[in-house]
Amino acid sequence: MEKKRVFSGIQPSGRLHIGNYASAMRNMIALQDEYSCVYGIVDYHAFTIKFEPKEMDDRVFNCAVDYIAAGINPQKSILMLQSTVSEHTELAWILNTITPISWLERVPTFKEKKEQNPHNVNMGLLDYPVLMAADIIIYKAAVVPVGDDQVPHLELTREIARRFNSLFGETFPEPKEQLARVSRILGLDGVNKMSKSLDNCIYLDETKEEIWKKLSTAVTDTDRKRRSDPGNPDVCNIFTMHKAFSPKKDIDHCTRECRKAGIGCLDCKKILLDNMFTELEPIQKKQKELRKKREYIYDVLHDGKKRAKKIAVETMDEVYEKLGIKVFH
Ligand code: SF4
Repeated sequence: MEKKRVFSGIQPSGRLHIGNYASAMRNMIALQDEYSCVYGIVDYHAFTIKFEPKEMDDRVFNCAVDYIAAGINPQKSILMLQSTVSEHTELAWILNTITPISWLERVPTFKEKKEQNPHNVNMGLLDYPVLMAADIIIYKAAVVPVGDDQVPHLELTREIARRFNSLFGETFPEPKEQLARVSRILGLDGVNKMSKSLDNCIYLDETKEEIWKKLSTAVTDTDRKRRSDPGNPDVCNIFTMHKAFSPKKDIDHCTRECRKAGIGCLDCKKILLDNMFTELEPIQKKQKELRKKREYIYDVLHDGKKRAKKIAVETMDEVYEKLGIKVFH
């Protein structure tokens, strides 16, 4: 039986952070055996905010390195650069024609991005979820591993797929999101999403010392003013990180001791640091090796382009047929 397909994408932001890793990438890695996976470095999406063209090649390269170092196996999964499969934008245009603007205006990330980029509220920012829908349904993906901030986009993707199917005949399956056990890690400020632009991230390639510098000053339960005050792990972002990186015995120990002030926040953070770094260290070793192999990384992306394009072209042929365009397709 043919394996069901998975699609997920990560923007080439330069460096991946532990939020990307824990909320989406771990699932992306875990799904590789059971599903036929297509993973994209979604550069079209990155163009919607101001960027430096001179840096883009390195950003793409580093993103591919991070994917492979973390465990994406290019022999099993397709790793591709979105703009090399231009059918993504081709399908997005068609989906644009059936997507009411009101659906896009209500997407929460559009409101956030408008606030973050008040001088660059471009069409791409509004249209981003339609391109994301195209990214997913062009591969007829059944499952999409994402962080919980992407759930509204998945709902919209299903709505768009449903509308296409009802207008032109059954073509696209409705994809389901797959959330991680910890689907959202906040930034070091404990309030905002982990984001490079807010400078509140822990990156996958940081040394243990660098991570400790950040963790040691990271916000915890803000009501815990003194070491002798009991804390509340349920409102503490450090505890959320524990749930993402620590074994059960450490999670149980920290929650129990926190609640009776048996442990200080620094002790708790040290336990987290050790657990987090145990997971990151082998990834970092692999990153270092892969960064010396630019040709290999480009070969992987080239191969990914060929394999992804084959699927995307097949879907577009079907789409044009459904639209009644038969002369050249
Ligand atoms: Fe958070 Fe740990 Fe401090 Fe409790 S002890 S408030 S879980 S950092």
